[in-house]
Amino acid sequence: MEVEGRVILSGVSFRVEGGLTAFIGPNGAGKTTLLRVLAGIIDYTGVVSLCGLDPRRARRLTAYVPAYLQVDPYAKVEDVLEAYLHNARNPGDPLEILKLFGLERLRGRRFNSLSGGEHKLVLLAGALARNPRVLLLDEPFSHLDIANQVKVARLIREVSRSITTVITVHEPLYASIADLAGVMSSGRLVAFGKPGEVVRRKTLVEVYGVEMEEVMVGSRLLLVPSL
Ligand code: ADP
Ligand code: MG
Repeated sequence: MEVEGRVILSGVSFRVEGGLTAFIGPNGAGKTTLLRVLAGIIDYTGVVSLCGLDPRRARRLTAYVPAYLQVDPYAKVEDVLEAYLHNARNPGDPLEILKLFGLERLRGRRFNSLSGGEHKLVLLAGALARNPRVLLLDEPFSHLDIANQVKVARLIREVSRSITTVITVHEPLYASIADLAGVMSSGRLVAFGKPGEVVRRKTLVEVYGVEMEEVMVGSRLLLVPSL
């Protein structure tokens, strides 16, 4: 698949019907590009169907949260939330969602003055307020403290029951909470399927080129890099 004139993804083929799907893989593997294709915000060659439509024609159905967002230095939290409702098919009230996160205190603040974790939560509130059919979250756990990671993990699992959710992650643990997982490397989808079958030590060692250890915690098998 050519993206903006350059081959970035090739042989990436998968099908998702609802639920939570997580993509994991090294920096530069193509995870963000894949989400941006699904969000319909970049041009590409190849066949992609989202709810039966070309994603570029389905933007009203999707909500995309980038890993990093640069905004006008004077933009307020409300401005960023408002921008999320643009072209939404059935917009809700992002401030209500901000309240659910216990973040009303951020109202009136300049977006750029927030911490990385607060950025994430504000963007997630905006995305959910779009009431999308498909939610696309790039690195939703980056910059979050442990409590907020737990909060966001639970929220993502909950919303993915009614909204098809696709996320990218750097932590195998968060790939393991998904219904389906994909491992990407060098623009290719190396493996795709049930997390327990796909996010395996051997695969991660291959794609990251570092040793990994398997650790049993209760009934859960964790993969941690050998330091
Ligand atoms: P990941 O999110 O997995 O870290 P990305 O999808 O951001 O990876 O990037 C995959 C590769 O494509 C990288 O080598 C990146 O530099 C390149 N790339 C992404 N977008 C563009 C673009 N618009 N033009 C040229 N190269 C790009
Ligand atoms: Mg990325």
